[in-house]
Amino acid sequence: MARLEKKQIGDELLARIHAEIIPLFGLAISDHEVIFVNPHLPKCWEVEKCEKYGCPIHGHEQQRCWQVAGTFCGGGTQGDFVDKYSSCVKCDVFKKACPSLVEELGEQLNNMLFLLRKQRRRTLEEIGKIGYLNRELTTSLESLDAKNREIQEMVITDTLTGLYNRHYLFTVLEDEVARCYRGTRYTFSMLMMDVDNFKAFNDTYGHPEGDRVLSSFGKLLKEVLRKSDRAFRYGGEEFVVILPDTDQTIAYIIGERIRCAFSERAFLVGQGFDGGGSVFKTVSVGIACHEPGLDGSQLLARADEAMYQAKSRGRDQTVRYGEGGGGEVNLGAA
Ligand code: GH3
Ligand code: MG
Ligand code: MG
Repeated sequence: MARLEKKQIGDELLARIHAEIIPLFGLAISDHEVIFVNPHLPKCWEVEKCEKYGCPIHGHEQQRCWQVAGTFCGGGTQGDFVDKYSSCVKCDVFKKACPSLVEELGEQLNNMLFLLRKQRRRTLEEIGKIGYLNRELTTSLESLDAKNREIQEMVITDTLTGLYNRHYLFTVLEDEVARCYRGTRYTFSMLMMDVDNFKAFNDTYGHPEGDRVLSSFGKLLKEVLRKSDRAFRYGGEEFVVILPDTDQTIAYIIGERIRCAFSERAFLVGQGFDGGGSVFKTVSVGIACHEPGLDGSQLLARADEAMYQAKSRGRDQTVRYGEGGGGEVNLGAA
């Protein structure tokens, strides 16, 4: 070929590369769909005279067989683009698609973009999967947290009455005493309550009816008390209430409110019992207010002492610790 002719072809190719290939690089950065449009794309099944009609590329025009996974050429099922790429670019079909350097560059650019898009899709899928797993994990953690709170609640709750249990009383008591030593003017009061003549009630109407009375007393305490107050089942038919930020005078009013409300509650016992029908129960209440120097068990002893005063005065009444004739709990004796 004459030198001049060769130069002319070279110039033409360079001009085409400038016009058709180089702009694609710039576009590819901002436009994910960019592609080199190749008018020479062959139909592989025609080039290779292939009759494998089940092949995923067979009959699909405008697709590049080297980019389609699982094609049936070369005597077996081929892998995906990356696996078969090196053999595909040597294949007659690819060569037919690239009659000049311009198409070859264009197709290699297409391959590069195809791979990048595939990786991008996979990354997005993985981000989606991670997001899904993250949401699943958050839901599991939330339900675990809720279960944990439920268990914590169960550990400190008395099942019959729904009140806090004796074990938790000592934790709360310790906290309240500590609070008194932190705040100079802070104090709290305690109510100790015991259902009157409960053994006789059980003996007459049976244990299940007795349980109903205890559970009803638990409900009453929840209804009457403030949110910040806490009620505990201390023992069988004995209850304790902690009244934060409350002096003895207010505690007495609250104690009386509970005592009166309970004494007005009618319990319907089976007609099969002698004297069945409405039965009323009462409760004796002892009150003690925290004073500097007292610990939790000394305060409990004072409230208990006041409650026994109420019993000895005839039951169904509220007595404040130290109120007329009550024995004193020696601070040093505990
Ligand atoms: P007092 O007025 O002096 O308190 O007399 P009381 O009969 O109430 O006191 P006592 O200590 O003699 O009896 C308490 C009774 O409480 C005996 C026990 O069977 C009953 N009791 C304790 N726990 C439960 C319970 O969970 N359910 C029922 N139904 N009864 C209980
Ligand atoms: Mg008792
Ligand atoms: Mg009793």
